Amino acid sequence: MQFRSSFNIFKPKSHSFIYHFFKQSFDFQRISKQLYLEFYSPKKSKNNSYDPSSMLRLFLILNLFSKSHSYSSHSPKLDLSKDLIELCGFFPYQTPTYTTYFYFLKRIKASISVIFQILNKARALLVKFFFKSYYSKAKYIILAIDSKPIATDGLHPKGTIYSYNKYLNGKLGIKIHTLSIVYPFILPISFDFTPAKHHDSPILRKLISTIAPIFADLNTPIYLTADKGYYGYENIEVCTLNNVIPIICPKKNLKTEIYEKFFQVEEKVFCIYSKLSLYRNGYDKHQNRINYRCYDKECSRSCSHRVWIPLGSRKYRKIPSEYFFSMRSYIESSVSDFFKKLYIHRSKIELLHAIWSKTYALRNTIYIRNYSALKLFELKLMKQITYDSIFKLKCSPLQK
Ligand SMILES: [Zn+2]
Repeated sequence: MQFRSSFNIFKPKSHSFIYHFFKQSFDFQRISKQLYLEFYSPKKSKNNSYDPSSMLRLFLILNLFSKSHSYSSHSPKLDLSKDLIELCGFFPYQTPTYTTYFYFLKRIKASISVIFQILNKARALLVKFFFKSYYSKAKYIILAIDSKPIATDGLHPKGTIYSYNKYLNGKLGIKIHTLSIVYPFILPISFDFTPAKHHDSPILRKLISTIAPIFADLNTPIYLTADKGYYGYENIEVCTLNNVIPIICPKKNLKTEIYEKFFQVEEKVFCIYSKLSLYRNGYDKHQNRINYRCYDKECSRSCSHRVWIPLGSRKYRKIPSEYFFSMRSYIESSVSDFFKKLYIHRSKIELLHAIWSKTYALRNTIYIRNYSALKLFELKLMKQITYDSIFKLKCSPLQK
């Protein structure tokens, strides 16, 4: 294989943290081989290709570390500093045009959802790199998740905004969901976008299960803080399965009642008043939960007669054998001082969202032509946020 660029990363004069990040987090020689075997045809073409791993580094640099947004079909020449070009492994004066870059993404079948996934994982690797390089003395890591509505107009999937914000409430729009590290430094990790009316809760499961495994070998306790919109057995379970300790604010009034009125012995649920086992009374496929009913007509008026129990990640219609026990102990621990001490850090993600509103003019209704314009908007916003969080904000991990 003879390429026009190198899988080697040349150490630049500036931006040396990117050099170390690449060196520590990726095996570009292996990635180069793998991408070549899987996506490149061995037929000889007129021009030699660029090394696949240096194209991949270009993709990462453009989306994580570059301010420039000009590389496009309108302006096909790569506008990056000499140092960033060297980090990609390109020789100065021999850089790919936008068409070549575009076909590279197409060649490796990087659809928009794949691009989101790669970038979310790359940011998780970056957070891990910062933690290991500059913050390894911290006793734990705190993550936070939240969403923020953005009013939009145009021919793309959107939904009604339900918000405390008077200006936004009732408008149509989308939601940006962010999972961010908030201690010992602040950096957004993983993003998702949905129509505004979508619930926040399932996004926690999606984002945490893709990024948590990347932190697995850090040997540091990882906490995830979230407000009561994310509370529920499914989310507590998925955190635990991913070795993340949930610090999610319980919906207290609603839940303690349930835990006081019913109890469980293995897979049977009992009414605390009649002491009788409840009957199964229906299954909600959409939310994967089972309804139980107390059929004792003489039962106390305090009995609520029915309860929904979520099955979490279970595929079979069996309730988790320690459901009541684990939820009750979760609620008990949620009043502890330690829980409260960690939960305070959650507000930093709200602060981040407020900064973005101002910086990227997200308070005005944004016109988005159609679905592909929406995807471009999302990518560009993510790119700006990432760049500013690393290079511009006072709370950047590089400020240490
Ligand atoms: Zn009862």
